[in-house]
Amino acid sequence: MVKFDIITIFPDLFKGFVSESLLARAQKKRLITITTHDLRRWTTDKHKTVDDRPYGGGAGMILKIEPIFKSVLSIKNQVLRGKKNKKIRTILLSAKGKTFTQKDARRLAKYDQIILICGRYEGVDERVAKHIADEEISIGNYVLFGGEVPAMVVIEAVSRLIPGVVAKEESVKNESFSKWQMANGKWQTNREYPQYTRPEVFVPKTSIKNKVLSIKENKWRVPKVLLSGDHKKIEEWRQRNTE
Ligand code: SAM
Repeated sequence: MVKFDIITIFPDLFKGFVSESLLARAQKKRLITITTHDLRRWTTDKHKTVDDRPYGGGAGMILKIEPIFKSVLSIKNQVLRGKKNKKIRTILLSAKGKTFTQKDARRLAKYDQIILICGRYEGVDERVAKHIADEEISIGNYVLFGGEVPAMVVIEAVSRLIPGVVAKEESVKNESFSKWQMANGKWQTNREYPQYTRPEVFVPKTSIKNKVLSIKENKWRVPKVLLSGDHKKIEEWRQRNTE
């Protein structure tokens, strides 16, 4: 079981995310647990202040170190109580962090507890990255409002690799980024082959004069080889179409 603990100033953002679909089922089956923690709980002033102006000047506000320090300490203590051998990873979501990949998801799926610290505003006091977090993860080269959506990305990618979360384990084994292969003289991760389902032929009829789609073919067909029943040929076709 992997326990996810999210530290955020917007815990309500996660309500729908944790209570729908496969993540909800995985929690029911006790394969994962997801707990959100309101960072303001670890403030001491009456305004529950979590941010302050940056030293040296500049735009925006920075999340302070004290409440983050206290929150991580408290969350780790709950898990470690009496059990010293738990594998815990503390992650700061950060645009300037290392880009998250499927390999990281596989690595993180082996932990007992993953603590995700969500930044907001102009960012987080750098001492969190230096002294509290084990790693800084970015989900891509763009800047979002906060670390909440990146935390959801990490939780989904990791959870679906935990045995039992995705019903047919096959679909996790053979999907995109699951193996390395040589293509055009370079090693690269695979992409899943194209998939189709019924009907065999789709006729894109529209009653109004179509302006929203530029339809170049009148019949959209499933590749013949997939209908042939010849498993060897299908496998070869899939192999050719996995880059
Ligand atoms: N000033 C920061 C910079 O230039 O890198 C951006 C701060 S951003 C507005 C606020 C928070 O959103 C960050 O502290 C981080 O937690 C989160 N965030 C934004 N983009 C992200 C990304 N691509 N990956 C992970 N976290 C991100």
